[in-house]
Amino acid sequence: MNIIGFNKPYLTGKETTYITDAVNSGKISGDGIFTKKCHAYFEEKYGFKKCLLTTSCTDALEMAAILINIQPGDEVIMPSFTFVSTSNAFILRGATIVFADSNATHPGMDEDSIESLITPKTKAIVPVHYAGVSCNMDKIMAIAHKHNLYVIEDAAQAIDAYYTGIDGIKKPLGSIGHLSAFSFHETKNIMCGEGGMLVINDEQFIKRAEIIREKGTNRSSFFRGEVDKYGWVDIGSSFLPSDIIAAFLYAQLEHLEEIQQKRLTIWNTYYNLLSPLAQKGYIKLPLITTGATNNAHMFYIVCKNLEERTALITHLKEKNINAVFHYLSLHKSPFYEHKHDGRELPMTDFYSDALLRLPMYYELSLGDIVRISDTIKEYFNESINIK
Ligand SMILES: *Cc1c(COP(=O)(O)O)cnc(C)c1O
Repeated sequence: MNIIGFNKPYLTGKETTYITDAVNSGKISGDGIFTKKCHAYFEEKYGFKKCLLTTSCTDALEMAAILINIQPGDEVIMPSFTFVSTSNAFILRGATIVFADSNATHPGMDEDSIESLITPKTKAIVPVHYAGVSCNMDKIMAIAHKHNLYVIEDAAQAIDAYYTGIDGIKKPLGSIGHLSAFSFHETKNIMCGEGGMLVINDEQFIKRAEIIREKGTNRSSFFRGEVDKYGWVDIGSSFLPSDIIAAFLYAQLEHLEEIQQKRLTIWNTYYNLLSPLAQKGYIKLPLITTGATNNAHMFYIVCKNLEERTALITHLKEKNINAVFHYLSLHKSPFYEHKHDGRELPMTDFYSDALLRLPMYYELSLGDIVRISDTIKEYFNESINIK
């Protein structure tokens, strides 16, 4: 039986053509033709105020931490069930991370726990839209407004996902916080190998964001003819990607709708095939929260505990299927456990132990999905018979 991998990057076919075009244009450093095309695409399609491609989502988050002027001792609230980059960006500026627990019904951060974590030192909340499923942004924005905090959306997994709040307006994720960060890493829906984007919704940050992204210089203003020479005006780094990367990304953007449709079909097929197991109470299926849409970034199931998940991973592996676990609680990581304030985060630990991600990529066939689902069903029948 052929091996079903966990992820397989999908190519639309135009990537290398556009890369050749970028090379032939004679300008392959950052902010060339394709970078501009990508910026325009995102700003038009999603109404983002200002988009800036970066070399990764990690970099976009680092830019956000610089932009909101994180100082040593500042506190930043974020889920513990997330990727290290969400935290590192703020740690690098000297912040203390205050980890929030996950929800009982889904891995996203428990919005109701946020307010109790706020102190006079709190500077920002960083919601992570896990699996592209929106956090309750109404609650988060209201808390931020009340306590005068910044909201930075870690929208790494949230391309083409939306949130409809109590105002009834359907907003793209990434457009709600003051700043947002997207990822175009190979494992994401739309990708260019390594890549990311900072979205700036609060206009006060636009000018400085351009400077920080260009090594702390006002080179972007200079290229637009707004100043007659450019120089060192702020801190910064080299956060902008080569136009070759943007060329690859643009080829993907041209097929965004089709990619999203395909992924959604795969997701729904899994959901339908695995529903009987969920109904019998063996596993839990992903929850699409109130007001959220599904961008089919990930298909996961939630097992009863670590033991069961480990056994299921092994069972799938024996049948040549690669299913993987996800984040390990950051508050218990070797780097942070001694810095963490000691609060128990039981739901984070639970998802850390029990969540299992199934293969999810454009070229996954119906036959593959059936085989994976049947193998999971087979596992439960077997283990049920034994017990
Ligand atoms: C993928 C991911 C990142 C990091 O993205 P890169 O582009 O690889 O830097 C950050 N946060 C979350 C939640 C992610 O899923």
